[in-house]
Amino acid sequence: MSLLITGGTGYIGSHTVVELQALTDEQDIVIVDNLSNSSTKVLDRLIQITGKKVTFVKADICDYEAMNAIFEQHKIDAVIHFAGYKAVGESSEKPLSYYYNNVSGTVMLLKVMAEHKVKKLVFSSSATVYGDNESPLNESMATSATNPYGQTKLMIEHILFDLAKSDSNWSIACLRYFNPIGAHSSGLIGENPNGVPNNLLPYVSQVAVGRLAQLQVFGDDYDTADGTGVRDYIHVVDLAKGHVKALQNLGKISGCKAINLGTGNGTSVLEIVNTFKEISGQNIPYKIVPRRAGDLATVFADASLAYELLNWQATRDLHTMIADTWRWQSQNPQGF
Ligand code: NAD
Ligand code: UDP
Repeated sequence: MSLLITGGTGYIGSHTVVELQALTDEQDIVIVDNLSNSSTKVLDRLIQITGKKVTFVKADICDYEAMNAIFEQHKIDAVIHFAGYKAVGESSEKPLSYYYNNVSGTVMLLKVMAEHKVKKLVFSSSATVYGDNESPLNESMATSATNPYGQTKLMIEHILFDLAKSDSNWSIACLRYFNPIGAHSSGLIGENPNGVPNNLLPYVSQVAVGRLAQLQVFGDDYDTADGTGVRDYIHVVDLAKGHVKALQNLGKISGCKAINLGTGNGTSVLEIVNTFKEISGQNIPYKIVPRRAGDLATVFADASLAYELLNWQATRDLHTMIADTWRWQSQNPQGF
């Protein structure tokens, strides 16, 4: 039996491979990635961490022939589907590229899975599908999206719900991630964005390591304790463990189920900056600038469903998240 991990050399995928290899001796892991946002260096790091090899196929999930060949050559039992583009700003500049890669790519993957009668799937969704609902966000709330990236996640969720309705053999967990941060405790793998980071933590770490001069804090006039935006940051290793639990519990899920993966706690931008400064011992210069368009004041999860259904909850605190981020960034100042 093999597990197919699409986007497995990326940030969350690589951490999930580590957790899967710690647990599943009998299952081989096949990674498919087109390396559009990752490097094969990750594969060497994975061997250093786990001592085990994975099968790597460089291919695009939109490529029917290549995907079909993977399913012909390996006895795939289930798929964890991370592959996709994820930059919110870029998605507004290149909507077609996002709809094609994320939505068409997923449809292609599902078509090949269905043809090979592989009907177990864990999908990377996002809390962005909650639109401007008030936190804590729970899975029964109405969904909406405000940018093409969010629309792709929402469209894929709709496709997955329709597919599961059409054929009761599908078991699908749609995991809605909150804000993944941190890195493996070895410091060997971590988040490695191309160009100037859009997200807070990679930006702060690159300021701390001297690659960027100053952080811009997007607004200090929100209705939050210190006026800056509040988010539910979750350690990427906790998130990875959530995928393992989802995979192990797919049998309990009939049809398609949306499940939040968050901590249920909120942390402000300034709390992140101050904790980072304390742990790294580095100065983090910042400037308050106007709000970023489309940002909400406060976003955090109701994380109870994941506990009920998957017996999963996040255990790593903010200190660990930031210490691990800093270990990765300071050991690999230029990334991989
Ligand atoms: P990432 O960019 O590090 O990993 C995605 C991987 O997919 C990359 O290695 C990339 O090369 C690969 N890829 C992209 N398009 C592909 C294609 N057509 N064929 C094959 N491979 C392809 O991103 P990540 O942070 O690990 O995110 C993984 C998933 O989780 C994405 O779907 C993302 O939208 C979702 N997600 C991420 C976050 C976050 O903050 N990181 C939050 C919510 C949801
Ligand atoms: N943020 C910021 N400066 C940055 C990047 C982000 O002040 O350079 C803030 C942003 O306004 C939000 C929080 O940090 O309040 C998290 O932003 P991120 O883009 O990481 O995640 P998302 O907004 O998608 O939850």
